[in-house]
Amino acid sequence: MLTRALIGLPLGALIALLAVRGRVLTLPAALLAAGMLIAILALGGYHAAGYIVVIFGLCAAVHAVAKRKKSRHAGGARGVRQVACNGLVGTLCLVGYALLPHPCWLVAYYASVTEFFSDTVASDLGTLCGGTVRDICRLCRVPRGRSGGVSAAGTLLALLAAAVGFLLSFFSELGPLGAAVAALAAFLGMLFDSVLGSLVQGKFRCRVCGAATERRRHCDTEAERLGGVAAVTNGTVNLLSGLFAAALAALLYLLL
Ligand SMILES: [Zn+2]
Repeated sequence: MLTRALIGLPLGALIALLAVRGRVLTLPAALLAAGMLIAILALGGYHAAGYIVVIFGLCAAVHAVAKRKKSRHAGGARGVRQVACNGLVGTLCLVGYALLPHPCWLVAYYASVTEFFSDTVASDLGTLCGGTVRDICRLCRVPRGRSGGVSAAGTLLALLAAAVGFLLSFFSELGPLGAAVAALAAFLGMLFDSVLGSLVQGKFRCRVCGAATERRRHCDTEAERLGGVAAVTNGTVNLLSGLFAAALAALLYLLL
C-alpha cells in the first residue's frame, strides 16, 4: 500500500499540474484531486486509479469540446467543492474496501465514478445537441440547461458513457457481472441526479443574459430564483447521486 502511495505522489502532482494548466481545475481543487488519486491508488490499486484517471481525462476532453462550442452551460475550471462532491463517495468506498475487503466496495467505487462521467457527458454534450428538453418528473418542456431537464440526446449520451465505463472496467477485478452492475447503477444514478435536480435543486435565471442556470450568480450578477431550494446546489445533487449509484451498485452486487 505504501509503495503504491509513493508511486501516486508524482503521478498526482503531474495530473494536478495538467489540470491547472488546462484550466480544468483551480489550484486548490487540483491539489485535492491529487490527494484523492493518491488515496485511490494506495487503497484500491492500479486498476481503480487508472480508471479514474482515464475517466477524468475523458471528462476534461468532453468539457473542452463543450467550451469550444461556446455552450454557455459549460462552466469554467472546477473548484474544491465540485471535486469534493464528485470524488468523495468513490474515495470513501475504497476506504471501506481497505477496512473490510469485499468486492461490493469496488463495484460501488466504479459505479460512483461512472455516474460522474455519465452525468458530465449528458450535461456538457447533451446541451449541445438539439431536441426537446423535458423535466424528468413533470414531463413539461423546460429551457435547455435547466436542472432536472432531460433530452433524448442527453439520455442516449449518458447511456453511451455508462457503456464506455462498462467496457473499461470489464477486464478489471470486477469481472463482467461487477462491471455490468456498476454501469447500470451509474446510469440510474445519473437519472436520479435529474430527479433531484427537478424536485429539490435551486433553479435560477440570469437577470442579464436570461439563461436558465444552476448557479446563484451568472454574468457577475445575482440570478433570479425560479424554484427549488436555493441552498441545494448542483454539488449537493452530484454528491447525493454519486452516493445513490454507489449504494445501489453494492446492494445489487450483494443480491446477485
Ligand atoms: Zn448570464
